[in-house]
Amino acid sequence: MPVPTHGYDCQTRIFPVRCKTCKKEPIWIFSCTCGSVVRFDAKGPPWPEHECADDVRGWALIDMARNMGYRVDDPRLLAFAFPGSTVPKLPAAPPPFERAEPTTADSFDVFGLVREVIPASRAIEAVKTLGALGYALLKVSAHERLWQITVADTSSSPRMTYTCLVPARFSPARFAVGRRAFATIRGVNAGPVKAWIVDAIEDVVE
Ligand SMILES: [Zn+2]
Ligand SMILES: [Zn+2]
Repeated sequence: MPVPTHGYDCQTRIFPVRCKTCKKEPIWIFSCTCGSVVRFDAKGPPWPEHECADDVRGWALIDMARNMGYRVDDPRLLAFAFPGSTVPKLPAAPPPFERAEPTTADSFDVFGLVREVIPASRAIEAVKTLGALGYALLKVSAHERLWQITVADTSSSPRMTYTCLVPARFSPARFAVGRRAFATIRGVNAGPVKAWIVDAIEDVVE
């Protein structure tokens, strides 16, 4: 089966289920309206995928349906595969995108769709112009190269977008538009430097 590519209309469900094989509870199901479904051991960095063979219900059913060409994000299929879990309802139409302003300095996790990856931006230039002070405001090491990513949380309404500066120790090569990423971010809002900063970021192989 081709790997689903996330797109403009993507809406994502995130919900806990019990693994029918190893009985671990919760594991987390991430399902997207483009047809992507992934399961995770934990809802947080480093986002380990739950690797477990399964009986005929549960994950095995999802795999089988996928191999037969069915849309595995169908909520009826998800409800049947994971009885007892609550499959979240989605709005009838994809909600609008809305830019999240970096208002909170507390770090939190964003799971979403990569919408843009660029090597240079006005925000990066603003940091460079300030020199050592700019990097101190970001709390990143002085003159570490930065790049910029925009991630959209496709499970929220509206779908919030986070435009983030990323230190170059995380390689931009692993992130492509239309794929999924998880990031731990915090906001910086100090004079000319107004940005989300990435402290950890992972791409997701689907
Ligand atoms: Zn998608
Ligand atoms: Zn399991």
